Amino acid sequence: MNIGIIGGGQLGWMMILEGRKLGYGFNCIDSDFSKPGVRIADRGYAYDQYRDFVDSSDIVTYEFEHVDDRVLEYADSCGKLRPGMLPIKLKRDRSLEKEFLQDAGLPVAPFTVVNSLEELRKASWAYNRSIAKSAIGGYDGKGQYPVSPGMIPEGMPHGKYVLEEFVDFSEEASVIASRDIHGKMAFHTASLNVNMNGMLVYNIAPFHDKGMKDVSRKLLEKLDYTGVMGIEFFIRNGKPMINEFSPRVHNSGHHTLLGSSISQFEQHVRAIAGLPVPDPVLLSASGIVNIIGRALNKDLKNKILQIPGTQIYWYGKDNAKKRRKVGHVNVVANSAGEVKERIDELIGILYGERILEFLEYS
Ligand code: AMP
Repeated sequence: MNIGIIGGGQLGWMMILEGRKLGYGFNCIDSDFSKPGVRIADRGYAYDQYRDFVDSSDIVTYEFEHVDDRVLEYADSCGKLRPGMLPIKLKRDRSLEKEFLQDAGLPVAPFTVVNSLEELRKASWAYNRSIAKSAIGGYDGKGQYPVSPGMIPEGMPHGKYVLEEFVDFSEEASVIASRDIHGKMAFHTASLNVNMNGMLVYNIAPFHDKGMKDVSRKLLEKLDYTGVMGIEFFIRNGKPMINEFSPRVHNSGHHTLLGSSISQFEQHVRAIAGLPVPDPVLLSASGIVNIIGRALNKDLKNKILQIPGTQIYWYGKDNAKKRRKVGHVNVVANSAGEVKERIDELIGILYGERILEFLEYS
């Protein structure tokens, strides 16, 4: 069987590394052939070759939302696209995503959709403190602006926004959920996620479920979903509220590469290929630290790998500019507390005291 992946980034790269265990071939389509997924695929395709790409793949999936429509639509018309078009349409416009979640009765922060800065200013009076998020094209905290009543930041671009109440959360967490072609679901243990400047810096699993699994189950059912989905939550007063979902494998699920009996990547390949997705067994407390905006030399690698229970995933990108995820370190230990100690050491090695400099917006 050949699986086609739309998008050639690191998520596709790890999907190929893990999916090859099952004996499948992988095609990858992207405009940039230097990307890690395209480099290790059995065959890389440019977007103009989208028909050949789909015709030579038995199933087509995606590792990123902002990809060429032609390939999505053709794969969908051939009945090969898993998950389907609806989740990707919702992800491409935050307002549709939020409205879908709210209409499904799932917990989200109060929000208002606005189409101009004037509407935004008026709507801002409804919240003590809020965040305006670009409806189109924002991710990893991009296109987000803090707003106070009646005051919007200078220089904010015109456009459609989701104005969302600022959530005074105690924690951020996520669940990696999967659903097979028959509707059976499975869940990796939740993780506690630590974001800075809108980017995931590290996470630790297991984390208390707090009802996240039930909310995730309803979401996957509502979408009649096939594959793996990453669902990010705010925890406020002990209860989960969905921040956003990603209809694909997710950065906060990389801990499953080392801490679980099935990685999120293998789980996704299994689900879309029609294989079983049993509940993953947690093998160990585990976590990851993202490597953002910096290169690794031998000295750094030595220091990282001297910490017990670590593995480096280096994505092979050529340019380690600020806010660019270029790799991650997996770490396992006997308890979540011990994982945290090792993560603190790793952050010291990678960033010293200067982590925020690596996460600056350019
Ligand atoms: P997002 O791109 O929507 O996942 O946002 C990136 C990060 O910004 C989140 O992980 C949070 O740390 C923060 N954030 C986003 N929305 C809110 C909110 N409504 N209240 C507080 N923090 C938020």
